[in-house]
Amino acid sequence: MYFSVLRAAKQISINRMLQVIPVPALEDNYMYLVFDSEKKHAAAVDPVEPEKIQKIANELSLSICAALVTHHHWDHAGGMKQFRELYPDPSIKIYGGDARIDCLDVHLKHEDHFEFGGLKTRALSTPCHTKGHICYYVERGNERVVLTGDTLFIAGCGKFFEGTAEQMQRNLNEVLASLPDDTRVYPGHEYTSSNLKFAKHIEPNNQDVIAKLKFSLDCDAKKQPTVPSTIGEEKKINPFMRVNSNEIQKQVSAISPVDVMAKLREAKNQFRPANFACK
Ligand SMILES: [Zn+2]
Repeated sequence: MYFSVLRAAKQISINRMLQVIPVPALEDNYMYLVFDSEKKHAAAVDPVEPEKIQKIANELSLSICAALVTHHHWDHAGGMKQFRELYPDPSIKIYGGDARIDCLDVHLKHEDHFEFGGLKTRALSTPCHTKGHICYYVERGNERVVLTGDTLFIAGCGKFFEGTAEQMQRNLNEVLASLPDDTRVYPGHEYTSSNLKFAKHIEPNNQDVIAKLKFSLDCDAKKQPTVPSTIGEEKKINPFMRVNSNEIQKQVSAISPVDVMAKLREAKNQFRPANFACK
């Protein structure tokens, strides 16, 4: 994915004090820099390409003060040894929820609170994609963001590699859904368009899905990130957060939230967009 420091700088909003800069990595991953506009001490989220993060941080005059790792998969945590070499200062802590993360300093549990760069942060344990998956909820004044790794994507969710539909139901529709609707959502991958194609397939009359797909395809054409969404928006467009929708329940022939979640995941795993065979 095309990316430059100039593009990173464009993501800085003068209207915001709590800044989150998406830094594309590998094929379709996102790393992030999260910081307070005044203090400029940034946490690097899932810095799988630490040199790229360092370059962008330097160009933006940010000092790195922490690393927040969402889960142990290599495309998120694979850069932690190199990160530690680039940032040997022991006061720069590496946070995560899984002992399989290299160089982990602070092993977080659900609802652990901590601060980095003057920003209050809460660890939300969201086991299912992996057992030790953590989402990070960060607040400053009346602004809030959540870094959701491979648990919640825009209009989708991660595969259930180490957990159950029951766990993902709790993660999405109890833990994350209880955050304020204006919480900005920053996921671990740019999967928005393919997720919305599935959302449209499973809930064809959802006008919010149709509008968001148009937006997402437009972003793809301009090579722009689709992040962030908000928790409130996800409740309108994300089938996995719409398990009570009558249309979705009919499509998957299930009613209870856990059954709908399981059937949705199965259907998504098998779903191929109409033009898939041409690619
Ligand atoms: Zn993963």
